Amino acid sequence: MFEKLTIPNTIAAGPGPGNTDPRVLEQFFKAGLADHMHPDVLRGMKECKFMLRKVWGTSNIHTFGVAGTGWSGLDAMISAVKPGEKVVAFVNGTFSGIDALSLRMRAATEEELSSNPLDPDAKSVKVVDVSHGQSVDGKTIEKYISEHKPKWAFMAHYETGSGRVNDIKAFSDSCERHGALGLVDAVSSLGVGDFRIDDYPGVVAWASCPQKGISCLPLTYAPVSFSNKYIDVLKFGGARTFVHNPILEARHWAIIDGEDVDKGVYHRTHSAYAVAAFHEALRITLKEGISNRAAKYMKYEKVLSAAFRAMGCDVTSDMTSLVVLNLPENLSGREMEFVQQCRSENFGIWPTLSEPVQVRVGILNLLSDEAISEIINKFGAALKKLGGHFDDKLILREMTELSEK
Ligand SMILES: *Cc1c(COP(=O)(O)O)cnc(C)c1O
Repeated sequence: MFEKLTIPNTIAAGPGPGNTDPRVLEQFFKAGLADHMHPDVLRGMKECKFMLRKVWGTSNIHTFGVAGTGWSGLDAMISAVKPGEKVVAFVNGTFSGIDALSLRMRAATEEELSSNPLDPDAKSVKVVDVSHGQSVDGKTIEKYISEHKPKWAFMAHYETGSGRVNDIKAFSDSCERHGALGLVDAVSSLGVGDFRIDDYPGVVAWASCPQKGISCLPLTYAPVSFSNKYIDVLKFGGARTFVHNPILEARHWAIIDGEDVDKGVYHRTHSAYAVAAFHEALRITLKEGISNRAAKYMKYEKVLSAAFRAMGCDVTSDMTSLVVLNLPENLSGREMEFVQQCRSENFGIWPTLSEPVQVRVGILNLLSDEAISEIINKFGAALKKLGGHFDDKLILREMTELSEK
């Protein structure tokens, strides 16, 4: 027999998963043993759907959760894409790169897929590579969408691989202007940035995840939202999936024939624990308010970046929940060693997952002076251990300013 599994508590100071709110955990383990058609579970799912529409600022009826993680929601989001359909996908890091791979798998013809099943070269998909550390800007978006006039266009809102925010307004505008259906990976922006879906009519489908900005548990629910335009395309053309077909999935969330109905019907077995956790995460998010939370992320990211710069690091990101940086010159090339040293002390920072190797430090659900000070202290101590030199007084000044703000 193996011993009982013990997993330590760490500071999740990476790009995600974030630190699950203790109130969410409590709801998870306190939920009763009820099946997926119990009236209170179904009521909880309906309430989640209503709260999610508020959190995301949308009147899209097809707004609900897909069981799983971010990729599960993203898979449902691209379910309507068919072989041979024209797609333009903007890639500026690891995650949009995987999104583009998923789109190539969907849009590849039989021949294209079977000639390279794990990495098909789909002729109908134009992948626009934007270099690491840069945002996808309005000019690039307009150029490729106007040139290719695709049926679908794709972009990540926040690219967590490089910590960059992409121009969602320009993306939505270009999609509208050229009749493209916009698909957005909002895994890292929901619950972090201050935005409303209904302000971006060019985007017809959005997908996020449970364990980043909304502080829920991984493998509960990935929020998704589809406009009627997307649902019409799906109604007409179908999708080669049962479980991730948004029209079919929506039924369990009591959305049938494009309308909210009284009671959900079976699609697959949902978990009372997952529903209870998701429900609480959304309640907490709504109570705090998206704008308030976004303002806190902005404030703390500024402090954190300033402290890292004072230690000699070069910050290359512009996301508010994540700082991506190069170590000071004398430690350049030792990023992986640095990250491993921190991680071995349960200070859970991350490297970048694709070249170049950089350090990523995140603050998901770590929005307090104490938490930010702890991150700065741990980071500084680890940097000194590796041979970093910096003036503690400068850092102290950053932190004093922080507590006075
Ligand atoms: C984290 C992330 C994903 C993947 O989400 P999982 O929850 O790991 O499946 C996809 N896209 C972006 C932008 C992300 O940040």
